[in-house]
Amino acid sequence: MTGGASRARLPLLLRSADYSTDTLKHTFVPKCELEAQGIASFPALEDWIAIFRNSITYFKLVCASDTSIGDPQRAAEKFACLYEIGLQNIEKQKSIPTIVDLCRLREDCLVESGFHDPFLEIKKQENAKALQILPQVCQELDEEYSSGADRWEAIIRGIFAGNIFDLGAAHTADAYHNNDDEMSFFKTRGHLLERPWVIDEMDALLDRLTSQEKYKKVLIFVDNSGSDVILGILPFARECFRQHGATVILAANEKPSINDITAKELEQLLDGIAAADHVLCKAIASSKLQVWSSGNGLPVIDLRYVSSELNEEVFDADLVVLEGMGRSIETNLNARFTCDAVKIGMIKHPEVAAALNGRMLDCVIKFDAGDALTAI
Ligand code: MG
Repeated sequence: MTGGASRARLPLLLRSADYSTDTLKHTFVPKCELEAQGIASFPALEDWIAIFRNSITYFKLVCASDTSIGDPQRAAEKFACLYEIGLQNIEKQKSIPTIVDLCRLREDCLVESGFHDPFLEIKKQENAKALQILPQVCQELDEEYSSGADRWEAIIRGIFAGNIFDLGAAHTADAYHNNDDEMSFFKTRGHLLERPWVIDEMDALLDRLTSQEKYKKVLIFVDNSGSDVILGILPFARECFRQHGATVILAANEKPSINDITAKELEQLLDGIAAADHVLCKAIASSKLQVWSSGNGLPVIDLRYVSSELNEEVFDADLVVLEGMGRSIETNLNARFTCDAVKIGMIKHPEVAAALNGRMLDCVIKFDAGDALTAI
């Protein structure tokens, strides 16, 4: 269901906690200041701004081929100019920008240049491709893995594999456009970096998922179109329904942003998803798998501004999952919730890898038990 304009704080956020979206805020500091303090100066504020500045060329290319608007090439030039000016203004100002600011500025410049959804065609193609592979992914899980921790681990590894389809990061966007085999779902799942990962609380999560205590309502903030949501997240949602009997709420963006799936797009895929697998069909038919708008329009998320309709629906969720580098690592990695929470995503920027002392394509899986946190 798509959301209205009204947005409010997610009720599952721990109220006593100082909520800050930006996980890597300590690195949003000018290089010279970090050097003066004798601490690592990569990444510094300049490096974060450079990520966004370097994205202009790629965005311009995608925008120039957006046939849904008149004279896309001229509009793409306008976007590039506006965003460059915006970034220069940010560099001149005294206050430090957040990652949310930098993402929002880019979306605003796209809209101001006349673009509504320049990645639409790519998203459609990737959704169609992933939907074709979904029956195979579900079937393989059912045939190769009986139940228990091994099955959950395969499903979670699938979330990482799907999350590699990310056109918001230069590394994976290049791999995607070069038709690199790195993007293949099964191959990626089989070749994730060796554990332990940079943040690796997989065992605690597996213990909880296989315990006697079942989750009743699971809220998942999803990320990208294609293999990410269809081959990564859906099998996880399917298992929450199949093994826990949980209602699963998929919260997707209200407005388009890069290749993130929107709630409307995901809703339109439900018939195809139901046709692809009998368990997912049962979940959708019984309203145990639902799609809601998060109210968001960015590749990151500020949980103080979630659609009021979604908030009413999920106040009693007992597990919240934030998925993807933008929503679970660059923002919200340290967010605390009244219920259990999982932050899961793959690292696709060298700056994020350095800030967390991890590796490129490293995995982050953080599991926070809600009860323990509430008791603090
Ligand atoms: Mg994304």
